[in-house]
Amino acid sequence: MQFRIEKKLKNSLGRAGVITTLHGEIKTPAFVPVGTKASVKALTPSQVSDLGAEVILGNTYHLYLQPGDEIVRAAGGIGKFMNWPGPTMTDSGGFQVFSLGVAYSKDPEGKQASNGAGISKVMTKADLLLIPERFDDSDAPRLAKIGQDGVSFKSHLDGSIHYITPEKSIQIQHNLGADIIFAFDECTSPAEDLKYQEEALERTHRWAERSLREHQKLLLFHGSHSNLNVVTESNIAYAEKSTIFDALKKTEEYSLEGVSQTDESRGSAKPAGLDSDPIKNDSSVFSSALFGIVQGGREEFLRKKSAKIIAETNVDGKYFDGFGIGGSFAKEDMSSAVKWVNEILPEDKPRHLLGIGEPEDLFMGIENGVDLFDCVAPTRNARNGTLFTKYGKINISNAKYKNDFSPIEKDCQCYTCKNYTKAYVSHLFHGKEMLAGTLASIHNLYFIIHLVNNIRQSILNDTFHEYKKEFLKMFKGNLG
Ligand SMILES: [Zn+2]
Repeated sequence: MQFRIEKKLKNSLGRAGVITTLHGEIKTPAFVPVGTKASVKALTPSQVSDLGAEVILGNTYHLYLQPGDEIVRAAGGIGKFMNWPGPTMTDSGGFQVFSLGVAYSKDPEGKQASNGAGISKVMTKADLLLIPERFDDSDAPRLAKIGQDGVSFKSHLDGSIHYITPEKSIQIQHNLGADIIFAFDECTSPAEDLKYQEEALERTHRWAERSLREHQKLLLFHGSHSNLNVVTESNIAYAEKSTIFDALKKTEEYSLEGVSQTDESRGSAKPAGLDSDPIKNDSSVFSSALFGIVQGGREEFLRKKSAKIIAETNVDGKYFDGFGIGGSFAKEDMSSAVKWVNEILPEDKPRHLLGIGEPEDLFMGIENGVDLFDCVAPTRNARNGTLFTKYGKINISNAKYKNDFSPIEKDCQCYTCKNYTKAYVSHLFHGKEMLAGTLASIHNLYFIIHLVNNIRQSILNDTFHEYKKEFLKMFKGNLG
């Protein structure tokens, strides 16, 4: 993976750039649609691609539980499995493990569980005051348990118990085979006390190093044993015992830098005497870049500390290829938190703001140096009938749209707006037709992807601040 900055915003951290992976380019800033279970809900990959998406993100937690990472690996990786030829990403599974467990009491679809105060990715300070103490409460439902080594949790599907360590998360992600993967982290609730936040952060930093170490080891493992289909502990143990593995470790020419860095250096990474070309055999695995995740909650000193430590984390001189900014945010603090972190992270590597995607947050993140965003909101909202327009969000189920024969948005170039009226989409929602979710998802994803593309263009044209002011003024006029 490579990253190059094309243009910087004056007097801020914002930039427009291009990430290059073996499966294609991602022009940044970019919005990454979420395909939780290797499927962007209600859409085919070609529909997602037609909307202008260049990359999709699958959730490690869900794919590990179903169908299992080994099946995805056998299918040729997540991209081949779901027929998405472009770049792919997977998250570390951390957020889902924690959001399904102790801290959050939310189900994976984001509906609030009945047994606790749900916490979203973004909360207001007022919401935070409503969250009861939970960790020390032995009566509280506890689906995940955090140890120094990893997290045990109960599957939301069948109640089976699983144990995920940083090494396991990276092994699963190597099996899923995305171009960009993430280190395993602990996602704490912003309601935690400072002492817990500090402990959790130290754990996240230790887990970051272990994730990076495992990643480097697996790159070597794939290089030496691309014929071993699946990353399992016994396969790794077998590879480690092998003489080729030892020889490779000692071969300077076959440096880990060679396999994990640029295409040019990768070309020379093939060890002498190994006739199979591992890149050709398994490009999806070999192209994996690992992003470290910065945590630290709402505290400035913790966020800054985390950014510094994650930026400097290395294993034998190999650093993270990019960075994720994780955690839950109080809406009011989000821009400061992103700014604190991005002022410290190295400028020449991409940064991904995890799980954030409301229009005003996209402007804020981009202005503060974020390159990638993923969020389920556009598609989840769409399936609930909440649609984006440049004048704010509308609810298409509202009675006033039943005989409105205009498109959702007059000048929108998406398939839905070019071919259908609000009255028809409203009818589909009232009739509970599956096409409702599809047409609504097409419009919402088109809206968000093109918003980010327009912001990118405004950076290139030096019109970012004017565009931001004009867009947000209209958008906050909210039609209701
Ligand atoms: Zn549209």
